[in-house]
Parts: sequence; structure tokens; C-alpha cells
Amino acid sequence: MLAEELLRKYSLSRTVIREEILAIFLDYPHAMSMSELKDEMSCNCDRVTLYRNLKKFTQKGILHEVYLNKQDSKYVLPESILNPQKEYSEHLHFKCLHCEMVKCLTDQKIMKVILPEGFKKVEANFVVYGTCDACGKN
Ligand SMILES: [Zn+2]
Ligand SMILES: [Zn+2]
Repeated sequence: MLAEELLRKYSLSRTVIREEILAIFLDYPHAMSMSELKDEMSCNCDRVTLYRNLKKFTQKGILHEVYLNKQDSKYVLPESILNPQKEYSEHLHFKCLHCEMVKCLTDQKIMKVILPEGFKKVEANFVVYGTCDACGKN
């Protein structure tokens, strides 16, 4: 899948920045924060532009946002984008306490959460903290 095809499929206009963002995500297997993404970008775009595009992609379902805490979200291409047979569903995440790597544990689905009457869900955050394979070896 190419960045350009994704933009077309989701009826988003093609811009250099959008194509580059998606190309970076298509190349990277784990979740990335906005600052990590910014470091990878070749164009010198400001945070507001990046933020707007990440929000847009998230709304369209091209990116999946992993809430870690209020200020700190990471983004990743959902499995359903790379593999259209798979349907998106909420799953567990893993965060390495050493290198900050965040990985989707897509095979481990989250049970349906039932809230008391009148309560409204905004986001759910299911993160397992620990050390990744690379960091665990040291
Ligand atoms: Zn690690
Ligand atoms: Zn995920």
C-alpha cells in the first residue's frame, strides 16, 4: 500500500506533508508520537500542521491513536489498513519503560466495557508496561 493510494481511498487531498507522514507510518511497525514523527520528517513543518494532519487521519480511521496519558499520544496504522480482511477492534498495548516503544497487541482484544447509566466513554486506555525484547537483553 502506498501513501498516495491511502489518500485516494479515504478521499483526502494529496499534499507533500500527508504523503510523507503516511510513508513514514507505512515503514514503521510500532506506534509513533508526534515528536518522533517530526524527527523523521524531511520537510520542516510546524507542529500545528502535523497535529492537524494526525487528527484528520485519526478521524478517517487511517491512523489509530494510542492514548498513554493526557499529553502523550502515539499513532500507528491500524492492522485493518494494512490487511483489509481484518476488522478494527480495541486491543491491548505494550509500552517499554526503557525505550518508550509502543506496540499494538492486536490479538488481545478488549472486552466490551459496560458503564453505569449516564456515563459516557471518551477513550479507553489499556497499556501493559514493561521491557521490550531488545531492552530486556541488557
Ligand atoms: Zn525497549
Ligand atoms: Zn493499537
